[in-house]
Amino acid sequence: MTDDLASYYSRVLPLPFITHEKLKSLQEELVTIIGVGGLGTVSTEQLLSLGIGKLRLVDRDIIEYHNLPRQKLFFIKDVGDAKVEVAKKFLKERNPFVKIETFTEFFDSSNSERILQGSRIIVDGLDNFQARKILNKTAYQLNIPWVFGGALGTTGNVMTITFRENTPCFNCFFDQIVDEGLPTCETAGVSSSILAQVASIQVNEAIRILTGEKPLLEGKLLFLDLNDYQTEIINVEQRNDCTVCSEKAKDVEEEISDEYYSEHCGKLIVVTLCERERFIVKPENKPDINFEKVQSFLDEKFVGKKYGSYGYEFKLMNTEIFLMRTFVMSIKDVTSPENAVVVFKKVLEIFQSV
Ligand SMILES: [Zn+2]
Repeated sequence: MTDDLASYYSRVLPLPFITHEKLKSLQEELVTIIGVGGLGTVSTEQLLSLGIGKLRLVDRDIIEYHNLPRQKLFFIKDVGDAKVEVAKKFLKERNPFVKIETFTEFFDSSNSERILQGSRIIVDGLDNFQARKILNKTAYQLNIPWVFGGALGTTGNVMTITFRENTPCFNCFFDQIVDEGLPTCETAGVSSSILAQVASIQVNEAIRILTGEKPLLEGKLLFLDLNDYQTEIINVEQRNDCTVCSEKAKDVEEEISDEYYSEHCGKLIVVTLCERERFIVKPENKPDINFEKVQSFLDEKFVGKKYGSYGYEFKLMNTEIFLMRTFVMSIKDVTSPENAVVVFKKVLEIFQSV
């Protein structure tokens, strides 16, 4: 190790999990950050400050004026320039040892393998579930661990996906979640404080893996809320019918049928998942029902499980139902799409009287 490097990291080396040897190996690790926005601008800077030597930055966006309050790698003069290029310049000025690759591309299934290939770990800075599902599937195929992070308003989530045996992947928990109808940073805002917290925990998880420690959020989903300092960690199990990581994943057939209709929410799209024992019913329009009232009702009347702001799991009519706040429902233990629609309509009927 050069004197310059040792001097630069002289306040990091005393940390119990970073030795001279580990710092040397961190300098050789390639970490990919997908999305250099509210989360990614914090995590990149922190990864460097803890000794990561190689970063791959992926983001196709240009810097906009409204990014500046929370994305501290960018300045007013940078508005209109590519985020990854400005971030690279900023980070290189702060850390002469780092090697940075940039991909100014929209991350999707056509380029995901090329973009992720060769990474030791991936830190999520994305802002939608669709892209995270692509990330999860490709990372699974390449066997690269990744750290999910999400933030909205004053709330945040973190989960570490290692793909080790008997551990859940992102899809095991989030397969029912779709972006349509969910609030976004544009509609609900996002606090810089929660972004910094979520990104810091993501970096801590990544560094734990890279230094040989067990990550603390493997198989666990952390919920944080700065509004009341409530913190909750729920255990997430690997699902034996997961369409990404289960043994059955190879045999999964997904059929979509849209011939169903509800007077309260229009067309119903029914997705038939593996073995025809679990169906997802997606309403075309969100019904006019208050989700918070429904949650209170479920808390009172059912022995269910609340998943923060994402949804609620409960049992009804001998089926297991996962209800999202968009009123998309995943219905398990039904025998046909028709029966899934019957359950969906029955649930709506109950909620309408709440
Ligand atoms: Zn899975």
